[in-house]
Amino acid sequence: APVVALRGVTKRYGNGTLAVQGLDLDITTGSFVSLLGPSGCGKSTVLRMVAGLSPLTAGGIAWPRAAGRPPKLGFVFQEPTLMPWKTAIDNVALPLRLEGVAKAERHRRAREMLDLVGLSDFANSYPRELSGGMRMRVSIARALVTEPEVLLLDEPFAALDEITRFRLNNDLLRLWESRRFTAVFVTHSVFESVYLSQRVVVMAANPGRLHADLPIAAPARRD
Ligand code: ADP
Ligand code: ADP
Repeated sequence: APVVALRGVTKRYGNGTLAVQGLDLDITTGSFVSLLGPSGCGKSTVLRMVAGLSPLTAGGIAWPRAAGRPPKLGFVFQEPTLMPWKTAIDNVALPLRLEGVAKAERHRRAREMLDLVGLSDFANSYPRELSGGMRMRVSIARALVTEPEVLLLDEPFAALDEITRFRLNNDLLRLWESRRFTAVFVTHSVFESVYLSQRVVVMAANPGRLHADLPIAAPARRD
């Protein structure tokens, strides 16, 4: 069964903007799917609806593998919303605190995630002491520390320079291969979508509809 199934998903904002219309989409469990399209075509709106952060105007979103209830989700935004007064490791550990995980255990797991994103030496640094790419790594580590089944990423690397962005693409792929979550990645970069995904769902604007659904036969290699 797909991890999530969208049926006739439609969103009209209060001001009358029809952002998404009649979207049908099944996302295979464990897959890496990109949602590609020009700015304003409704990609973020779809992601927010999947995350339960924005109500649907019509249609439905089902989680067939979780008895209809949403499984654990991780979210990565373009702007890493890190707590400036907390160190990198405390930022990563924060979601575990909210889950009530004991201190020693959350420290261990946060440390492990920081190692995985290559920030072992920066555990005690504050966000302001880190580069944009490092802050994004902390943000990814924080999103994955609770071991979510689905990771939703909304243009996470759009503000980073090209080299950093490429490195982060590779890091994200390694994490996906080792941690086995389902990734839904919103981007307006054709390169990024093809490089990262097994499947590219293309959206067209006015109003946001499915334009094409492309399987990517062999993921591009990055070793
Ligand atoms: P994308 O992520 O593809 O850039 P969005 O989902 O952000 O697209 O936006 C889709 C459309 O909905 C755009 O026309 C945008 O201006 C509009 N929109 C997005 N958020 C809101 C909002 N909160 N209120 C009204 N219109 C919105
Ligand atoms: P721990 O996880 O070690 O139990 P916290 O992560 O809550 O502790 O806090 C780490 C440090 O950040 C503590 O010194 C705490 O006082 C400080 N701190 C936590 N929340 C805030 C906040 N909202 N504003 C300022 N300082 C804070």
